[in-house]
Amino acid sequence: MSLLTMEAVEAYYGAIQALKGISLQVNEGEIVTLIGSNGAGKSTTLKSICGQVKTKGRIVFNGKDMISEQPHLIALGGIAHVPEGRRIFPKLTVKENLEMGAFSVKDKRLIKQRIEQAFTYFPRLKERYHQAGGTMSGGEQQMLAIARGLMMNPKILLLDEPSMGLAPVLVDQIFEIIQELNEAGMTILLVEQNAYHALQIAHRGYVIQTGEIIMHDDAAKLLSNNQVKEAYLA
Ligand code: ATP
Repeated sequence: MSLLTMEAVEAYYGAIQALKGISLQVNEGEIVTLIGSNGAGKSTTLKSICGQVKTKGRIVFNGKDMISEQPHLIALGGIAHVPEGRRIFPKLTVKENLEMGAFSVKDKRLIKQRIEQAFTYFPRLKERYHQAGGTMSGGEQQMLAIARGLMMNPKILLLDEPSMGLAPVLVDQIFEIIQELNEAGMTILLVEQNAYHALQIAHRGYVIQTGEIIMHDDAAKLLSNNQVKEAYLA
């Protein structure tokens, strides 16, 4: 069943049109990846889902029209966005960052429960519980950013370049965790420049080029597609 559907979505930064009619679908339980080169419109696609950029077209999430919805209502509706570059609160501790992620939850016990649950995926964060986010390594900060995204118990995680700037061993770890989250039931839309890795864990993929989807297929088929190999897997 489709959890997220985008139909002919256009996005604008002032006079600049960054998306020229994107259509894509993410079904419940899937990892769908959006791959493409620098400036193709990957981040803008996620921002348009989250109401962070001026958008036209149709976005339906969980049966509800989302276009022009307020960003905080979109978050409350079950969409967690983990933006590029991690953007954790550097001066706040791991604990405080996670609590901020559960901004609308009043029940302290529930917050604690969700933190404990996040630690099952990210035991490293438990060891760093009282450390300021900004003093942690890049990989730990990425883990914190994803864990923070989980704190609202979302229906979908939108991940923007989670592997960016990480050492290869950490890239492997992050992709493994994304897969574990999915196996536990989380639906994921994954934006990546690391197309090879992304397609290895995804069920399906879309290729975006200058604001348009030029191809979509099962991830395994994209991995063996010559055009994809040449342009994105070289
Ligand atoms: P990258 O991997 O480099 O982040 P991307 O595929 O995520 O690339 P976007 O960030 O979505 O690409 O950018 C799509 C287009 O929109 C680019 O041409 C970019 O220059 C433009 N763009 C993005 N953000 C803005 C902005 N705030 N103001 C003006 N143009 C922007």
